[in-house]
Order: sequence, then structure tokens, then C-alpha cells
Amino acid sequence: MNHNLLNEMCLRQLTLSAVHEGETVAVLSRGSERSDYADAFLFAAGQLGASAYHMRLPEPSGSSGAWAVGESGLATNPRAVEALQQADMLVDLTFLLFSKEQFAIQGAGTRVLTVVEPAPLLARLMPTPELRERVEVGAELLAGAGAMRITSPAGTDVTYRLGRYPTMSEYGYTDQPGRWDHWPAAFVFTGGTDDGVDGTIVLSPGDVLLPFNTYVQTPVTLTIEKGFITDIRGGLDAELLSSYIESFEDPRGYGMSHVGWGLDERAKWHGLTQFPGGMGMELRSFYGNVMFSIGPNNELGGPNDTPCHFDIPMRGCSLFLDDEPVVVDGDVVIPDMRPAGRR
Ligand code: FE
Repeated sequence: MNHNLLNEMCLRQLTLSAVHEGETVAVLSRGSERSDYADAFLFAAGQLGASAYHMRLPEPSGSSGAWAVGESGLATNPRAVEALQQADMLVDLTFLLFSKEQFAIQGAGTRVLTVVEPAPLLARLMPTPELRERVEVGAELLAGAGAMRITSPAGTDVTYRLGRYPTMSEYGYTDQPGRWDHWPAAFVFTGGTDDGVDGTIVLSPGDVLLPFNTYVQTPVTLTIEKGFITDIRGGLDAELLSSYIESFEDPRGYGMSHVGWGLDERAKWHGLTQFPGGMGMELRSFYGNVMFSIGPNNELGGPNDTPCHFDIPMRGCSLFLDDEPVVVDGDVVIPDMRPAGRR
């Protein structure tokens, strides 16, 4: 992408994130990855009168062979973590998510923004205050709920007991101390109580398996009891899912993690066909998707920190909070959560 355009985008991003004179913005990258993003964020921070610097970590040595989360490359770098704790804002180009180090940095009051998606997607899904407002309406509703039920024509009927874990919102920028967000994003989520998820989820063709970055082709039936998946049945997709989870040799990989719905009408369900190498943020965000996930809940303050993690956005589901419909057949039915033109 043209670097003037990238500069403009990062300037808009840091303006939304309320970067201002007197602040310090740190940009974290690894190896030679995303050096163009780092340059653009340094430029943007300077334009806003903040002081900025770029911290570059060495290329990761070796690979675990799986998409394990939580290995930040900062674990053996306590002085680097200390420096980042002193910053007002950290732009994370490395994907620190789920690492102890990210929690420590946020805990010190540093706001953190993850930016790892392809630049054309960052441009297309540029966050807006209007979208933030709708996401926050959703978050407030979710935070007040005691139970969530999800159903689908394919046979999904699962209930999450809520109330133990906080509700999180992602709308693509962050202007509050200690708060994390990811550009681009537009969804809300929380987690069920540790033993409070029960029922059946039937994945349908077209539902999305992240981080496989594939669309389900054949139905997959998941049985969930007391917060854990006890059975996975179906064709090839079921076998791939089982085989992958099993490879971690960690029973906590079968735990039920965060759950919520997406709100960005600009995000496309078919997005993976355009950006097969991305993280799938467009798929997590598309309007009316219901996304559940498998694996760690430490992001919400829970005890499960397994590195085995799936996010699974589903189409055409209905979602109820304390029996009130929020999403019906893949469409958001609360007026304040709908885009202005669709109320
Ligand atoms: Fe997730």
C-alpha cells in the first residue's frame, strides 16, 4: 500500500485512540514484519505531538508447528516489558494476545492496540465512533444478562450461564487507559461460567474455523456438558477439528471460551476468500454472526490458559439474552445496534 495512504490511516486511527501531546506511543514489532506499519504509526504519533519509539524484537526462533497463542517473545525480556508499561499506548504489530506480558502491560495502564491484518482490510474496516456506539450498546446488554441461548435451524441449542466473567467489546480503537482493542473489529463477547455451558452446537456449511481459516463444508455436531466439549461428530471437518485439538494433549483444549456476536455491516462473510493470510478479524466482525470459541478463557480472567484456541463465527443463528432475542436468523434485532439506515 502507498505509504501516504498508510500514514493517513494510522493518523486517523491514533486520532480516534485519542493520542495527544505529552503522551508516549510505543510500537512493537518482530523481525522484519510490518516495518511499513511501524513507520506509519511513528509518523502519525509525531503528527499528534506524542513522542514515539519503535521496539523491535528478534525473529522468533523455531516454530511450535501450531497456531499456539500466548507466546509473546517478551517473556525473557522483563526490561522491555517495563519500558512498555511506561508508555501511554502500545501499538502491537506482533500479536501479544493471551500472553502474560500483555496483561502486565495493560495492568500498568497502557492502552494496547493490536494491528496485524492486511492494510487494505484496515482501510475498508476503518473504525468509527458510530460503530463504537453500537458495539457499546451490545456490551451493556450482554453485561446485564444472566443467560445466553443460541439456536440454529441446523439444530444448535446451547445455553451459557453468564455473570462470572466480564463483558468485552472490540470496536477497532482504544482511548481508555489499560484497555485493549484490535483493528479492525466490531463485536462483543463474554464467557460462560466454568461449568455453565450445556447443549449442542451444530456447525453448518459456511461457518468459519479460525485459525484454520476455512469454511466448514460438512456439518459438525458438538456436544457440550458443564463447560466442556464431550463429543465431536461429523465428516471431514469434525475429524480435522478433533485431530487438531487432540494434538495439544491438553484436556483444557475442549473448554468453552468466549461467546458473542458481530456488528459491522461493512465486514463480509466471504472475507477469507479475499485475505486468506489474515487473522480473520473480518469474519469475527461481520454483521449478525454469532461467534463461539473453544480453549482459553484467561483473557476474561478465567483459569484456562491452554494454547489451543478456536474462534468459530456462525451464520444464520439466533441468540437470546434471558430469553430476549438479540440476533434472529443472523440479523440483529435490537434497533440501537443496527446501522442508522436499517433501524
Ligand atoms: Fe478468541
